[in-house]
Amino acid sequence: MALKFEDIKLKIIEELKKRVPDFRCPVCNKGEMVLVEGFINHPLQDELTGGIVLGGKSVPTVAIVCKNCGHTMEFSVGALGLLPKQEEIKKEKESNNSDYDKKDKQTKN
Ligand SMILES: [Zn+2]
Repeated sequence: MALKFEDIKLKIIEELKKRVPDFRCPVCNKGEMVLVEGFINHPLQDELTGGIVLGGKSVPTVAIVCKNCGHTMEFSVGALGLLPKQEEIKKEKESNNSDYDKKDKQTKN
């Protein structure tokens, strides 16, 4: 099953509070911070020109926004220790492939 934001939302908040216990907005030095409800994904490019490559390497992040001034900060999901392990990703891909095989067979019948 794909890692959904809702599934680890509380863990994200917990990790951020643990690593930055007394967090204040670095711009306005006040303001309540709120977590943006979803992952942000920054695609990585091997070349500066040649267009955008989708489905390649990326840096997934989560963002928090200052409710006072709107300053937005991003934190790497990997650095927070919340990325699924490579073995789990491989298992998921294998599982998805077998689903495609089933669907493919169904359409042929
Ligand atoms: Zn602020």
